[in-house]
Amino acid sequence: MTYLLIAVLLLAIAGVMIFLRKQGVPPHSVQEETNRKVIPLDRHRQLRSKPEEQPCSSCKRKNGKLIFYAQDNGSVVGLCRDCRDKAKKRDMLPL
Ligand SMILES: [Zn+2]
Repeated sequence: MTYLLIAVLLLAIAGVMIFLRKQGVPPHSVQEETNRKVIPLDRHRQLRSKPEEQPCSSCKRKNGKLIFYAQDNGSVVGLCRDCRDKAKKRDMLPL
């Protein structure tokens, strides 16, 4: 009797799942777009959380705390104290 109940329950769940799929999620759903935006932000947060372990993007030395700048193409670079002047000369924006 219990098995029958479980079987009916599973069928009901399967039915609901099929029903939800038939509702149709368009290929370019809002959720997908949000996910795409979230991923770079998470990466950026990881960069910021451990600045002492990151080598400088310019001179590749692990030179203590890095300051992060946004480049013209939208990428983020972490620069050490020595390279900060170069960033200022290139009008890069600190984050
Ligand atoms: Zn540097």
